[in-house]
Amino acid sequence: MALHGKVWTENPQQPEAEAFAVAGHRILAVGTDAEIEKLAGPHTRVIDLHGRRVVPGFNDAHVHFFWGGQSLASVQLRDVTSRQQFQQRIADYAKTRPAGEWIVDGNWDEEKWTPAELPTHDWIDSVTPNNPVWVNRSDGHMMLANALAMKLAGITKDTHDVPGGVIVRDKDGSPTGIFKDAAKDLVERVIPPPSDAQVDAALLAAQKYALDNGVTSVQDMGFTGSKAADMQALVVRGYQRLMAEGKWKVRVSARFPLDHYRRLADLGLMTNFGNDTLVVGSVKAFADGSLGSGSAWFFQPYDDAPGNSGLPTDDLAHTDQFFANLQGADRAGLHIATHAIGDRANKTILDLYERLEKEDGPADRRLRIEHAQHLRPEDIPRFAQLHVIASVQPYHCIDDGRWAEKRIGHKRAETTYAFRSLLDAGAILAFGSDWFVAPIDPLAGIYAATTRRTLDGKHPDGWIPEQKISVRQAVHAYTIGSAYAESQDDIKGSIAPGKLADFDVLSQDIFHIDPVEIENVKVVLTAVGGEIVRQ
Ligand SMILES: [Zn+2]
Repeated sequence: MALHGKVWTENPQQPEAEAFAVAGHRILAVGTDAEIEKLAGPHTRVIDLHGRRVVPGFNDAHVHFFWGGQSLASVQLRDVTSRQQFQQRIADYAKTRPAGEWIVDGNWDEEKWTPAELPTHDWIDSVTPNNPVWVNRSDGHMMLANALAMKLAGITKDTHDVPGGVIVRDKDGSPTGIFKDAAKDLVERVIPPPSDAQVDAALLAAQKYALDNGVTSVQDMGFTGSKAADMQALVVRGYQRLMAEGKWKVRVSARFPLDHYRRLADLGLMTNFGNDTLVVGSVKAFADGSLGSGSAWFFQPYDDAPGNSGLPTDDLAHTDQFFANLQGADRAGLHIATHAIGDRANKTILDLYERLEKEDGPADRRLRIEHAQHLRPEDIPRFAQLHVIASVQPYHCIDDGRWAEKRIGHKRAETTYAFRSLLDAGAILAFGSDWFVAPIDPLAGIYAATTRRTLDGKHPDGWIPEQKISVRQAVHAYTIGSAYAESQDDIKGSIAPGKLADFDVLSQDIFHIDPVEIENVKVVLTAVGGEIVRQ
């Protein structure tokens, strides 16, 4: 049991408490110190919370867990601020790798150097003659290949563009090394799959990072491209291996690509097939790309690229097939989430979800839009009307907020990361990080949602401050909101009798400090199913 704390329960019947008792993996009782102390037996272990704030275990509604774990050990480009540094980091890393090994991940962001130009293969060819390089922009929608990677993939000047993707070319039409969205597949198909040992190592690294940040549940959105389903299958096997070895603690819901829903449906698996630690049975689709890569699909062109309004994915462009998959998955009992960034992508998915409800009748589907990033004002109320969960990542707001207006202007930015407007309209928010794209740290997300202070320090009072939300609302979205989004709010998301005993103890009481100080708050203890997994 845990005594002498300030417990934020997310249980509306009993919002605050001093103490709670755990029996087995679950919460037994919640109440005052006196009430809970009475339940102690001779073998009861007592944790003294010393007046600290306790919250339900953070549930990250959107991660790419293997990808993130793998990136922790790979070349680090996230904080690179110049072309020279970019080259140096890759050169240094390449020296540590055997010839022939692919150098992947990286998470570079051209907005961090001046001018904000995209890298090209010749920045790095001379330092990577023996290693194919395939490093991603931080959003995962754009990649840089070196000359060797393109050679192995058979990419030349004559390679054609693919629907839903872009091969960036120089004046002569030669590929520069940058591949966007569906074009990434041209290179990815020649990268060898990871071994079991590599999968396990990446997942364990991911788990450690998650638990260090108080994340007790993750919703694993998996991969992109034509190998996405096969890769997610490798990862799901990895989770099971690690569970069998007793090494796996974090609760995972692993999604498969919508266009492979039959793999699940054929076996009769439905949403949340599995156990308290691992479930499958939900699917994820893509409607468009990203703002940073200029591939998010808008009604109006980008301000800095006249004539470009982004584009739908090839899947969505074939709307009849896309809808048939939505309907097929839904009828098979598989919950659906769709990535949509641009306002046109969001509107289109809302329309398709509406059509699904019209044709097949109302049901508890937990339909989600992942990111729901740029919304036309008239589409915001539709999230509540259609019961569509907005699964959003607040950290992106303070990251993209540095440069988003350059791309889409101020007017469209007013309903970007529109958390306040969505809540005011009655929508349900689920919070996540989108790690590897952003750090997994939920407190950084709560800080972002409540302050909207961009990372460059240029908006001390918040970027589009009208869209700030309260700390309570942010914690709600990161606990019970995200549990609701994965349809597991019956077993987690709050500290209440019968629920899984997943909780975090914080270094400061985030409800009683200025939100700008939340940046410095740490998770000091994390428990999953009553077991202290980090202290
Ligand atoms: Zn994502």
